[in-house]
Amino acid sequence: MELRLDGTHYPLESLGPGKRLGVWFQGCTLACAGCMSRHTWDPEAGSRTTVAEVLALWRRALADGADGLTVSGGEPLQQAAALAELLAGAARLRDGARRHEGTAGPRPADLLVYTGYEPGELTPGLRTALGGADALITGRFRVAEPTPLVWRGSANQRIVPLTALGTARYTPYLDRESVEPRLQIGPGADGRLRLYGVPLRGELLALERRLRQRGVALRERSWRP
Ligand code: SF4
Repeated sequence: MELRLDGTHYPLESLGPGKRLGVWFQGCTLACAGCMSRHTWDPEAGSRTTVAEVLALWRRALADGADGLTVSGGEPLQQAAALAELLAGAARLRDGARRHEGTAGPRPADLLVYTGYEPGELTPGLRTALGGADALITGRFRVAEPTPLVWRGSANQRIVPLTALGTARYTPYLDRESVEPRLQIGPGADGRLRLYGVPLRGELLALERRLRQRGVALRERSWRP
């Protein structure tokens, strides 16, 4: 099945526990004020790929001992059929890898999905698409509600464990604040500078200032209209 992505990154260490494969879906109509990823809004932008190609990345990440898969965006649920197929395939590969000693990490890899939808907005169809996930992080980004909570951009956003693995892995983080850097910076496949993670209020402005002091001027910023 085809899908449209903003990009992928491995190893991702700022959106979920441990070392993860990050997959960012393209397209979001929720238009949260202050969104740092406005470049993911246009459903026709990004690049077209297939679930099979993303699963090949996941297979390599598992062989490397990845702790999990993080799906974000954009809004993953706005490509619900592809998301369902990706999660089902990722769970199958994870469970298969666990059965072959030596190809899995020391603990099972979890599947985490970020969605801007609130739990009450999830229709039966959307819930079905999320069936393979171990945990969700739900809710719109609200710029007026900054938070120190780990992996969340605003205080309203919730970690919702869905499976026994998700409960075991994410319950300790429900109310935990960030202790590690919240942003990971690296080059994207398109040659642009990429920020992975959830900044604190003012952190993006501070980053721009530091870059300017070192002679780096940003021509475009995904957090500005
Ligand atoms: S914060 Fe997330 S849900 Fe909100 S507009 Fe940006 S990509 Fe969409």
